Amino acid sequence: MAETAQEVLKYIEDNNIELIDLKFVDLFGIWQHCTFHKSLIDEDSFVNTGGVAFDGSSIKGWKSIQASDMAMVPDPTTAWMDPFMEIPTLSMVCTIVDPRTQQLYERDPRSIAQKAVDYLIASGVGDKVYCGPEPEFFIFDEVRYKQSGHEAYFFIDSDEGPWNSGKEGGVGYTIGKKRGYFPVSPSDGLQDIRTEMLLTMAKCGVPIEKHHHEVAAGGQCELGIRFSDLVHAADYVMTYKYVVKNVARKYGKTATFMPKPIYDDNGTGMHSHMSIWNNGQPLFAGDKYAGLSQTALWFIGGLIKHAKSLLAFTNPTVNSYKRLVPGFEAPVNLAYSAGNRSASIRIPLSGSNPKAKRLEFRCPDASSNPYLTFSAMLCAGLDGIKNQIDPGEPLDVDIYEMDPAELAKIPKAPANLGEALLNLEKDHEFLTAGGVFPEDFIYNWVAMKMEGEVKPLSKLPHPYEFELYFDC
Ligand code: GLN
Ligand code: MG
Ligand code: MG
Ligand code: MG
Repeated sequence: MAETAQEVLKYIEDNNIELIDLKFVDLFGIWQHCTFHKSLIDEDSFVNTGGVAFDGSSIKGWKSIQASDMAMVPDPTTAWMDPFMEIPTLSMVCTIVDPRTQQLYERDPRSIAQKAVDYLIASGVGDKVYCGPEPEFFIFDEVRYKQSGHEAYFFIDSDEGPWNSGKEGGVGYTIGKKRGYFPVSPSDGLQDIRTEMLLTMAKCGVPIEKHHHEVAAGGQCELGIRFSDLVHAADYVMTYKYVVKNVARKYGKTATFMPKPIYDDNGTGMHSHMSIWNNGQPLFAGDKYAGLSQTALWFIGGLIKHAKSLLAFTNPTVNSYKRLVPGFEAPVNLAYSAGNRSASIRIPLSGSNPKAKRLEFRCPDASSNPYLTFSAMLCAGLDGIKNQIDPGEPLDVDIYEMDPAELAKIPKAPANLGEALLNLEKDHEFLTAGGVFPEDFIYNWVAMKMEGEVKPLSKLPHPYEFELYFDC
């Protein structure tokens, strides 16, 4: 819609828009917003020395009450009319500035993403990084009920037809376990809702490509979007999630990006493709393994070396690790391979086109904050390039089928969030290098995740424990 502040302001005037909704991402990857009358937005709002003031004290993990004044600075390239607001309202995504210093706020994920790109440029390696995320999600019909004073949530398959029990093969035209990829209707009962999601995203400036049902039964879906520069790719993931959740709601359904909502069927990932460019030239294409360059191999070396701590950002929930188990197309082994989807890093076939040469990191899931995920991946890869880290030999066999003794030699993804956080505590220099992630941001992240998620869940009796242990 717009490239500059002047263009946005002209659009607001020309279209007589009264309301401007400013959105920003919190640490957990959730959009927060505040709606302003147009009289509060002028050219000064768009620069770091100005911005639009708000109280940041109640945003979890941010400023204390004593220092709560903050400013949002909207990015004119993210302007679109919000399709979910009845009264015409222009939406923009913001970075956060500390008004005391007029600098980017060091705990703002979008600012961290900008700094990651600056770090790439300052390193002299490249001047552009492209990201192509593939978020998946489930659409459910929500049913809630209360039992023994506890509210329980049950989710029912949103594919049309009789409720699918999840039995192998399914019944009638419902989709059976791992059978969702991807028969036509009437098995696929979510065609129109996905189309509406995709077209709505396009209206919000997301470069759309395709949509389809995913592997899991029970309404697992994926919408395909085109790769973009790092910051915009993260903006698009945010828009994607906003649109998916709100279109689902319009249909009386509910959508979730939770990594493993259903036991014993495929989980929900956010595979993330990445490539680095310099002076308009792709740096990942070359004459090494699978048409990669030495630079790309070192980048992979960095990703593998730091994966055990990197996953604390790319897979940041307790539930994330219920997805990272064998047998569901999700990676467990930290290895790379051309075409082999059982490796955590895949080199997609890109034909003879060097511009399409990239790697696909299959670990991330959409419970992560996309700004932090892409920034952390870039930092790990850059560390690999700077230190010429050899990624070892590729794994071109199906690693699910390998000899157990050979398989045991391959490094593994952390088994749970606690392990990833402990690794992050020890290994985070690659993230703080170049001033991308402040060290206190890392310690704050570890503490928040440990205290708020890992510890409470480790103390919570699970219903299955009653089945196993009640009569003991
Ligand atoms: N859902 C799978 C995952 O958890 C991926 C399936 C696919 O896109 N091929 O990563
Ligand atoms: Mg895909
Ligand atoms: Mg997929
Ligand atoms: Mg993929």
